[in-house]
Amino acid sequence: MLRNRIYYQLKPFIPRALRAAVRRRIALRLEARVQDVWPIMPGSEQTPPGWLGWPDDKKFALVLTHDVEGPVGLRRCHRLAKLESELGFRSCFNFIPAGQYAVPPELREELTSDGFEIGVHDLHHDGRLYRTWRGFVGKAKQINEYLADWNAEGFRSGFMLHKLDWLHQLAIRYDMSTFDTDPFEPQPEGRHTIFPFFIARPRPITRLMAMGTAIWSCHIPCLRTRLFSCSCVTKLPRSGFVN
Ligand SMILES: [Zn+2]
Repeated sequence: MLRNRIYYQLKPFIPRALRAAVRRRIALRLEARVQDVWPIMPGSEQTPPGWLGWPDDKKFALVLTHDVEGPVGLRRCHRLAKLESELGFRSCFNFIPAGQYAVPPELREELTSDGFEIGVHDLHHDGRLYRTWRGFVGKAKQINEYLADWNAEGFRSGFMLHKLDWLHQLAIRYDMSTFDTDPFEPQPEGRHTIFPFFIARPRPITRLMAMGTAIWSCHIPCLRTRLFSCSCVTKLPRSGFVN
């Protein structure tokens, strides 16, 4: 989308306070127009055709994920994980591999050994991940190296930008970059379902893309707090299925 392309190009030069003020203004104007579909898109709770149900006949699944956006969030991970542990939750922490902070291996080890999951959140988190196909292929290689290094299987793009066909370049088992509805996101078109869905592999464009398996993706409305987002994904590795 041209608007996003221009915005993310200029973003580093626009003061944060000004960005926030403009976004707030746009959001306030938008709010009245989207009250019928936000935060719940009517019909998104309907099971999709062919839905086989959750494993072991569980009634629903809840997944907690945290996108760690900066050094402040990084410093809070330990405390947040401790709080969740005490409450009996285990979540997924999505870290930016080449952003404003370096993820200490000790933190990743501490989290995973305590039952938490590590995910990869974009690469640079600059809104330019999907700018060109050629650029994305190069970035996908780097992302795949981080996935392997971190022993991670899940991915979420910065700002929930998505080009689902391209995700087949990533060595992931699931993606969390879509939502049922979110008119406030820069790429606002939603999938109108809270259930996981397959991202079909496109008809072979290259031989490489014809290989491998499909990827799942799904997202349910975010809990609008500073550090949390809540996603629903099919693999649900260490997360809870609820009776
Ligand atoms: Zn983010």
